[in-house]
Amino acid sequence: MTGIDAALAGGRTACLEHMAACEAAGLQWTEEPVTEILLSRTSPRVRFATFTRKQEAKVGADWLWWWVAPSGESFGMIVQAKRLYVDKAKWSFKFNHNSGEQRRALFDAAAALDVAPVYSLYLGTQHYRGAATCGAESHNSEDCANCATLAVSLMPALLADSHLVVDAESTYQRSVALETAFDNAEEQSAWLGAISADLTDDLSAFLHMPQVGVRAIARTLVDRVLDVRQGQFSKSVKEMVQLDQTGRVFSDLPGDYGHFGAPYMSLMLRGLVRSPPDYVVSIIAGDTLGEPPADNIAGVVIVRSS
Ligand SMILES: [Zn+2]
Repeated sequence: MTGIDAALAGGRTACLEHMAACEAAGLQWTEEPVTEILLSRTSPRVRFATFTRKQEAKVGADWLWWWVAPSGESFGMIVQAKRLYVDKAKWSFKFNHNSGEQRRALFDAAAALDVAPVYSLYLGTQHYRGAATCGAESHNSEDCANCATLAVSLMPALLADSHLVVDAESTYQRSVALETAFDNAEEQSAWLGAISADLTDDLSAFLHMPQVGVRAIARTLVDRVLDVRQGQFSKSVKEMVQLDQTGRVFSDLPGDYGHFGAPYMSLMLRGLVRSPPDYVVSIIAGDTLGEPPADNIAGVVIVRSS
């Protein structure tokens, strides 16, 4: 484990303790306190800053997460927290809260800020999740270590479809434990099918070789999308998408839509840049933050990989 893995695991453990205490007391826990516990308990290894001039306090404000390597290479994502609701074997997350307005706002903010839209899923205790198995060989029905790590998971927002994320299996297929996002042992992304011919050499290498640190986060999330794309059979738009902004790690990306309704590679990988944006540099330098870069952003989280 690197220091970051351990810090994130510690934060997740504290979240799980809170969720367990609430469940034992018959209190339904909510997203915001869990986020506060996650951030406060991973601090100072994980840094965060809130905006001094906050918009009127809105429930469910998103956080901007930036993973920053020593070289400056960075991956940005905008993160909205969603708790799990369990009804026997049926799972749900209220992704379409407020008639889908919250979800649209997440995608709009991600586009405006050039980051990947992501949900952080708070899954509660293994007991809360019922008899569901995490699918790991080591799974046990009483006290499964892998189920525990999944209590705080990340899901690319493209995959957060209320009609398709309906149980444990579909949730786990489409998400990854936050603390394991730096692990990227998979030799190759699950599916490269129709986009193989469209890959530039550097993008092909990124998708064919295990990645570390900041690039591993991006690869891990892209892999989840490709894994789902594998199950879709439609012919879809396949032009290249050129991201014109300078500073991208990958600027020529396959334009494949799959069933997602958007060119998923650019939606995810626009967040991977050679240097972080100014507001991240300001936080690292210890300056206070002024105006949020978009509406309804609670603050910025910075994870620096060694
Ligand atoms: Zn398990």
